[in-house]
Amino acid sequence: MSNQQAGGAPVRIGVLTSGGDAQGMNAAVRAVVRTAISRGAEVYAIFEGYQGMIDGGAGIRRFGWDDVAAILGRGGTVIGTFRSTQFRTREGRLKAARNLLERGIDRLVVIGGDGSLTGLNRFRDEWPDLLAELVANGEAPAELAAAHDDLIIAGLVGSIDNDLVGVESTIGADTALHRILFALDALSSTAASHQRSFVLEVMGRHCGYLALAAAIAGGCDYVLVPENPPAPGWEDQMCERLRRGRARGRRDSIVVVAEGATDQTGAPISSEYVRSVISDRLQEETRVTILGHVQRGGVPSAYDRWASTWLGHEAVDEVLHPSTPGQPKVLGVLGNDVVRVPLVQAVQDTQRVPELIAAGDYAAAMAARGPSFNELYDVFHELSQPAAYEPPPGAKRIAIVHAGGLAPGMNTAARVAVRLGITRGFTMVGIRNGFTGLQHGQLAELSWDDVEGWSGSGGAELGLRRVVPTMEDLYKIARSLEDNRIDALLVIGGWNAYQSAHLMYEERERYPAFQIPIVVVPTSIDNNLPGTELSVGADSALNVNVSAIDKIKMSGSATTRAFVVETMGRFCGFQALMSGLAGGAERVYLNEEGIELNSLAADVNWLQQSFAAGRRFFLAVRNERASDSYTTEFISQLLDGASRGAYDVRTHIIGHVQQGAEPTPADRLLATRVVSRSLYQIADALASEQGGGWYVGLQASQIVCSPLAHMMDSVDRLHRRPRQQWWMGLRPVMQAVTIEPTA
Ligand code: ADP
Repeated sequence: MSNQQAGGAPVRIGVLTSGGDAQGMNAAVRAVVRTAISRGAEVYAIFEGYQGMIDGGAGIRRFGWDDVAAILGRGGTVIGTFRSTQFRTREGRLKAARNLLERGIDRLVVIGGDGSLTGLNRFRDEWPDLLAELVANGEAPAELAAAHDDLIIAGLVGSIDNDLVGVESTIGADTALHRILFALDALSSTAASHQRSFVLEVMGRHCGYLALAAAIAGGCDYVLVPENPPAPGWEDQMCERLRRGRARGRRDSIVVVAEGATDQTGAPISSEYVRSVISDRLQEETRVTILGHVQRGGVPSAYDRWASTWLGHEAVDEVLHPSTPGQPKVLGVLGNDVVRVPLVQAVQDTQRVPELIAAGDYAAAMAARGPSFNELYDVFHELSQPAAYEPPPGAKRIAIVHAGGLAPGMNTAARVAVRLGITRGFTMVGIRNGFTGLQHGQLAELSWDDVEGWSGSGGAELGLRRVVPTMEDLYKIARSLEDNRIDALLVIGGWNAYQSAHLMYEERERYPAFQIPIVVVPTSIDNNLPGTELSVGADSALNVNVSAIDKIKMSGSATTRAFVVETMGRFCGFQALMSGLAGGAERVYLNEEGIELNSLAADVNWLQQSFAAGRRFFLAVRNERASDSYTTEFISQLLDGASRGAYDVRTHIIGHVQQGAEPTPADRLLATRVVSRSLYQIADALASEQGGGWYVGLQASQIVCSPLAHMMDSVDRLHRRPRQQWWMGLRPVMQAVTIEPTA
């Protein structure tokens, strides 16, 4: 199928946002508009959701490249959203069909919740009948109707609740979690100061994702989600849990309640009720915070920008070249890929969840949320209701060490390791100052309480050293492991941590002390580690970069200016490409691709023409090791030399703030999942009395352990990165949304 209609006219695509607004909708709209133009199609923005389609006129406007400039980082949806009651009627949909047909639009990308997608599918089903009726009424010529006899659709899920069954994450959920965690971290410090309890109510009528994810990432004590209503007597259980926490010296208690939480009779559990229970039974001053629409507001997170951009891009390809003609798809990001799931099935499954809950089939309701939700649910249970706060006598000893560069989320990972380790019956030992500290015997047991408050803090409380042990160091390390009776080792860190663990594994014949289970957990802002699509810390650094870029753009908004921004990442271009994609850069320079003088010259030419044609701002993002010769300074000077007064040039090197950020919700959740899986790996190995080495990571939303034995096969040692890097697949997306095709 070409991107032209039968008569040679370009295909026309409509895009609209509908239902509840969600952060990232603008990024998706921008990507739809620009990808469509890049593909030679025409694109129409439909304003105020389905209502714009019904109203026609200015409600449906052809969009050009610049109509979506500067919206990537804006909250809400610039084309408006609306809950159109008229669209629920056939009469309304008939008007909508007429307005689309008149303009030759027969492809639609809709960004909305399950309600919007239901309406969309209904419209598609009825389309032939609606057109027949228009022809019969004399409202449309038969040839026109025949030329557009099929409405081709694609759905993107805009929903802060993350509630669409079959889609791992929905547009807006990550940003909502950012807002919630901001509030939770703030509440937890004030609660701790006054030894108060807080009840936090978050959105989620039928879906507990936000509540659960927030409770884990915020280190909370109790959570109530709609999918799994608590059994009778839950109030006693909750109070007992809070009491135990207090008895251990915990200064704050926080209960998270999803707005749709109920008990098993279906009666709503309000945050006010939870408050009264705590304050009556525990005699504690308890406050309620209902976050409400704050969760929808603010700037979109980095994830909601790049993922929505990718989705918008793919949605255009889906309506131009349907993957399964006649069976519409909804698109979602799943790990390192965009997946297309049957729209009708996904919507039906989503709408069945409240029915399952009402029927008391909680297991099915939970199952509908997918494996990672359930995994998080179980981990939360372990963390908030531990089997024990102390390891049993004679428990196996697992040591935790950090190595490599600092990454946000190291503390989260260490905290989860200590608490899950203890509740699973191990003694947890913290090694201070990395492998150097291990050589010098800087080890101490860590108790449940020692890691209080580590969940959301940046830095690494245990300390770390970048160095990889030398052959000479290995003897001392082996001695220290033996002297301290270490039965297993959890290495949390970046490239050097992987190198160190691999070295120990390779030398295990020579040093029996290394014949213990060793598992490496990926934490690195560079995101250059094997066996994982994302490492803990990469999302936090990316958010730092994107927020810096937002401010840089603002600083340049009053003049005409070109910026060259440099990101960290060593030889890995993840931060540069993703910051460029999420920040709306015109160019990115990566080590993976190198920089050629010819292409730099072409960029400079383009820039001169573009400023001459009215451009006011230009942004290039350069990875710190993109090229040894063409440095950030060099590129800036090149741009400056070509400016002839049309613009001025500034450079900005973002630097170490990328490593020092507080971990984002996504990084805290990832840290929790990878550590939990690592400890299971260690437990299995200890139970079968076998040593071995593994590295753990995220692959297609599953947490997977891979043997260290084969690790080096998958990496480019010289450049310290995996041979295959999934995110390089976003290069064409970046191209399509930033380089306007010339006529
Ligand atoms: P969300 O998309 O966020 O779930 P709604 O359920 O309110 O939000 O749906 C948004 C809009 O989608 C509705 O106002 C209506 O215009 C349209 N819509 C929803 N369900 C249907 C339906 N069954 N038939 C036709 N249109 C529908």
